[in-house]
Amino acid sequence: MGAKFSIVVVGAGVFGLSSAIELAHRGHSVTLMDPGPIPHPRAASTDISKAVRMDYGSDELYMSLMEEAFEVWDQWNREWNAALYHQDGFLVLSPAEMKPGSFEYESFQMLQKRGHSAERLNSKKLRSRWRFGAAESFCPQSRYGLASGDGCDRQR
Ligand SMILES: Cc1cc2nc3c(=O)[nH]c(=O)nc-3n(C[C@H](O)[C@H](O)[C@H](O)COP(=O)(O)OP(=O)(O)OC[C@H]3O[C@@H](n4cnc5c(N)ncnc54)[C@H](O)[C@@H]3O)c2cc1C
Repeated sequence: MGAKFSIVVVGAGVFGLSSAIELAHRGHSVTLMDPGPIPHPRAASTDISKAVRMDYGSDELYMSLMEEAFEVWDQWNREWNAALYHQDGFLVLSPAEMKPGSFEYESFQMLQKRGHSAERLNSKKLRSRWRFGAAESFCPQSRYGLASGDGCDRQR
């Protein structure tokens, strides 16, 4: 059993709250300070949804941290009345060919290296599985990744 401390966490956004919960679980005495209300309407973490993902290029430390984080999300889902984490799958679209050095290529290599079941798709597989009309190019000039059958949807 390690030493116990009295800890003040300033800010009850997602980082402050999750730190406070974990510190309290470890037996420390925690005071969480926030002007409120919680969730604060101006907090970056106040939203109807956020994505968590593992792919961070060749950054293995980040991926290993996310592996631990996903375990805690699963644990929280078991502990809490309402499941807050929903696993929906994750599709990454790249307008350029995946080559060594590119974010998508390095992420894919790292996912494989660490034993995750990432699947690499080409435009043909993409179209057959999700019926993407413009899967070959997916609108590289657009701010949005998805494409409609007639070309770029909501292109800016
Ligand atoms: C539009 C948008 C989309 C995003 N999407 C994602 C996403 O999909 N996935 C992802 O991982 N990240 C996403 N992020 C980033 C993520 O939201 C932030 O990294 C994260 O919310 C930061 O959490 P935080 O707890 O540090 O800060 P915040 O959530 O901003 O919380 C800060 C808290 O500190 C309090 N506070 C401020 N000043 C004081 C003070 N002086 N004393 C006491 N309390 C104070 C505030 O009231 C607030 O509650 C997104 C960010 C934005 C803006």
